Amino acid sequence: MAVADVAAWLTHARSVVALTGAGISTESGIPDFRGPQGVWTRDPKAEARADIGYYVAHPEARREAWQARLHHPARAAQPNAGHRALAELERLGRLQLLVTQNIDGLHLLAGSSPERLVEIHGSARDYVCLSCGDRGPMDEVLDRVRAGEEDPACLNCGGILKSATISFGQQLVAADLARAERAAGQSDVFLAIGTTLTVYPVAWLPERALANGARLVIINAEPTAMDDRAHAVLRGQIGEILPSLVSRVAADRTPRAAGKD
Ligand code: NAD
Repeated sequence: MAVADVAAWLTHARSVVALTGAGISTESGIPDFRGPQGVWTRDPKAEARADIGYYVAHPEARREAWQARLHHPARAAQPNAGHRALAELERLGRLQLLVTQNIDGLHLLAGSSPERLVEIHGSARDYVCLSCGDRGPMDEVLDRVRAGEEDPACLNCGGILKSATISFGQQLVAADLARAERAAGQSDVFLAIGTTLTVYPVAWLPERALANGARLVIINAEPTAMDDRAHAVLRGQIGEILPSLVSRVAADRTPRAAGKD
């Protein structure tokens, strides 16, 4: 199936839902986990360190985590053509909901509106206290790390602080998951972009869409867990495919919109 066919599906869809994974942000300089150059592909032990139980039990894991947050490439990263294309798809009125597994905040920076975005694994731009739930901008805690605190504690209750992201072993926010599931279950086109579709429960979202009779479109440089179920697999760089797809949707819509006026 070609880009032109998928563009036509987007143009005529009743409800489009997109799911993005780490692959949409690699072109912004943030490595993914499971791609060929992924953090976990190159260092399988890094996956264990992402577990909440390990983080809570091991102060040295927290010290390492704070240093990693200070120097993480996501802090300086900017949105790329893929993020901007999804913001444009929303502006064209063709995107009901964007669900991202990413914690980098780049969809918001690219102009996607908060009302149509679910950051289902949280955001690294905020910190949260694991005891009292106090939450605020990550920079406030990173300033303390820069000033010499190796494992800064919550200023309210002394609890353990962490980035406001969902680690392995933590529950997703129920309202976020319910909203994503509802939208996926009502969609008639579902885009799965730059995700291996192996992280659950998010990987169930395309199943929900398929159960509703939606067309599943997978955009990825490598095979994914659901390629055999997809109606279209667009193989290649997201930063090239998405802009070309969305510019076709824009071109498809312009004459019709003008005709209606
Ligand atoms: P993943 O790392 O499992 O898979 C990324 C997929 O994208 C791979 O299939 C890879 O081949 C593909 N890909 C990478 N760059 C691409 C490109 N430029 N064009 C086309 N395809 C490309 O990602 P995941 O399934 O999203 O799971 C990883 C989990 O880790 C996520 O749940 C997320 O929360 C987290 N994570 C987030 C970030 C981030 O916020 N940017 C980065 C790494 C991991």
